[in-house]
Amino acid sequence: MTKQIRIIHYRQKCIGCNACIEAAEYRWRMSKKDGKSVLLGAKEKKGVYSVIVHEHEYEPNREAARNCPVNIIKVEKI
Ligand code: SF4
Repeated sequence: MTKQIRIIHYRQKCIGCNACIEAAEYRWRMSKKDGKSVLLGAKEKKGVYSVIVHEHEYEPNREAARNCPVNIIKVEKI
């Protein structure tokens, strides 16, 4: 069975520092509209964005979470 992870982004508090993009550039982009990062493929619910992906993305996104200065990225195995 394929193992998956969930990445969660509390986007409202993003300060646009680019650290998540440097850690996992295929999963994150900077928005030119508001200067906050975008979690690619995510769905929004009450301002919180989340996406379920294959677990091979676990380590780079854990690094993104560790490097985020405002601690708004969560990564969990599901
Ligand atoms: S590392 Fe955190 S604060 Fe920096 S752009 Fe990514 S989500 Fe925003």
